[in-house]
Formats: sequence, C-alpha cells, structure tokens
Amino acid sequence: DRSRLARLRHKPAVTLDGQRVELLANIELPEDTAGAVKAGAVGVGLFRSEFLFMGRDATDLASLPNEEEQFEAYKRAVEGMQGMPVTIRTIDVGADKPLEGRRDDLHLNPALGLRAIRWSLSEPAMFLTQLRAILRAAAHGEIHLLIPMLAHSSEIRQTLSLLDFARAELDNRGVAYGPLKVGAMIEIPAAALMVRTFLRYFDFLSIGTNDLIQYTLAIDRADESVAHLYDPAHPAVLRLVADTIAECRRQNKPVSVCGEMAGDVAFTRLLLGLGLRSFSMHPSQIPAVKQEVLRADTGKLVPWANTVIESDEPAQKLADAA
Ligand code: PEP
Ligand code: MG
Repeated sequence: DRSRLARLRHKPAVTLDGQRVELLANIELPEDTAGAVKAGAVGVGLFRSEFLFMGRDATDLASLPNEEEQFEAYKRAVEGMQGMPVTIRTIDVGADKPLEGRRDDLHLNPALGLRAIRWSLSEPAMFLTQLRAILRAAAHGEIHLLIPMLAHSSEIRQTLSLLDFARAELDNRGVAYGPLKVGAMIEIPAAALMVRTFLRYFDFLSIGTNDLIQYTLAIDRADESVAHLYDPAHPAVLRLVADTIAECRRQNKPVSVCGEMAGDVAFTRLLLGLGLRSFSMHPSQIPAVKQEVLRADTGKLVPWANTVIESDEPAQKLADAA
C-alpha cells in the first residue's frame, strides 16, 4: 500500500471527466515543505506563520521574530517548495493558538476576542514587520499573502493600506521585494455572507472551515463538552461553503478550502460536486484525497451535491453516496 501511495505522488490529480484539481499542503514551519513536496503537494495553500511566534513573549514585541528572522523563514519555505507557490497567512493567534504572555484566559470568549487580523491591526509595528518580511521573500519565489479572520470591510481597507505602507517603507530603504497575490480567509459567517465585497478587494479566497464551523454553529472548537455538536456536515455550514465557491467561480477568482474538511476524504466528492478545484491539507492526507479525486466524475457529483446542501439534515455517508 505504501508503494502504491508513493506512485500516486507524481500522478496529477485529475478526475475521471478530466477536471484538474490542485492539492496543496498546510504547513507550520519552513522545514515542513520537505514533507509537502514528498507527499506530492503542488504548493503550500496555508503556511500558519503564527508558529514562528510561538514560545515568544507577546507582551514584549522586541522578543518576537524580527524582520530578518521572518524573511529568512519565508524565503526558506519558498525555496523548499522548489518553484511552487507558497501561501503565507499572516499571524493568526488567540483562542486555540495563544501566544506566551497574551492572557487569553482573562477574556470570557477568547475566540471572539482580539485575535488574528484584529490583533495584527492593533499592533501595526508588529504587522508591518511581518508584511515587509513577506514582501521581501516574494522576490525569491511565488508568494500569496493570506489574511485570517476578516469580517469588516474597514478591516480589509486598513489591511491593504498597511500593505501599501510596507511597500513604501521598503522603497524608502531601497530594499527589493516581489509581487504578491493577496487573499482573504473566509472563516466567519459574516465574511461568507459578503463574499462579493471581499472579491472586490482580493485576488483569491480560502475557506477556513475549522473556524467557519465554530462561528456558524456557536460551538467552541476547543470545548470537549460540545464536540458532538461540532458538525462539518451541518447544512448551514455547507451552504456557506457552497455559496462562497459558487460566487468565486462566477467571478473566475481562485478559491480553496484550507480547513480540516479539505483533507477529510468523506468530503472530497461533495466539495468537487460544489465546484471546488483547490484543496489544502496536512501533507499526510494528500494521497488519500488524490485517490478520491482520481475516482470522481464531477458531472455526476454536481446534482447530488446540490441535493445535499438543500437537505434539512446533516449530510450522511458522503463518501458512499452519488
Ligand atoms: C480554519 O479555521 O479552518 C483554518 C484553516 O485556520 P486555523 O485552523 O489555523 O484556525
Ligand atoms: Mg482559522
């Protein structure tokens, strides 16, 4: 079975009816790119940059990775992918990913608090440092910049103007940087409900189902006592995912899923049927998802997927159906 999976590595992910599907890797550190390449990923769909910041004291901004250290890390990730694109998500801390010194436990609902892009916008010096490091690394390979947890159009504009400011700072210093495609995570229901607004600002979208489920169903993803209600197959979740994919396809904008759903073979056929052609997951899931893709006929999956999302009940037996 291992050698069969190894043979799969170089096989392009194409469905029976000839639809090309992009299988990307989620990584936490630059050295994870080796495993991504080995698994047959055609790029990194989610580099969770906050892992560079973990173990540092967030109350002391000077102890966080500086521009040079971050630049080296992003450059190493790009080089590790050997010419394939790397999607770097700006720091996404808070709630399930606390930083040292950030007392998330002082807040009643840390998942609803000052996390991810909200924290970045509240610490512009820290955020600009990260943006400059990413821009500089983009001179060494194809980087896509991904912004987590956006919900407000004002946050979008603030983020993009800080990005312009970071470019201007590098211009002033005479430091080289490269072009970036800029995208947003869709992981708050408000964002999923205003995808058309997001698409006016962004080159691509990536659906973060882990948080989208949490916020749609009001289930703390870290709370064991409600884990049985954390249901990726809930029709409300699937409709937000389906509508996001559909709007991106209408507008010819790239869209991927980078939450756990993308690496869960039980959802591969449903997501293909909803029109998804880009999946980002833990590298270890790539061979199994590729096998599902190779067996799928999207023409047959479309009508079935539409009945699934119209259903009143959670989708059952997704893998066996259709
Ligand atoms: C998500 O929310 O689905 C996601 C990919 O981000 P994270 O799991 O890092 O919050
Ligand atoms: Mg998330």
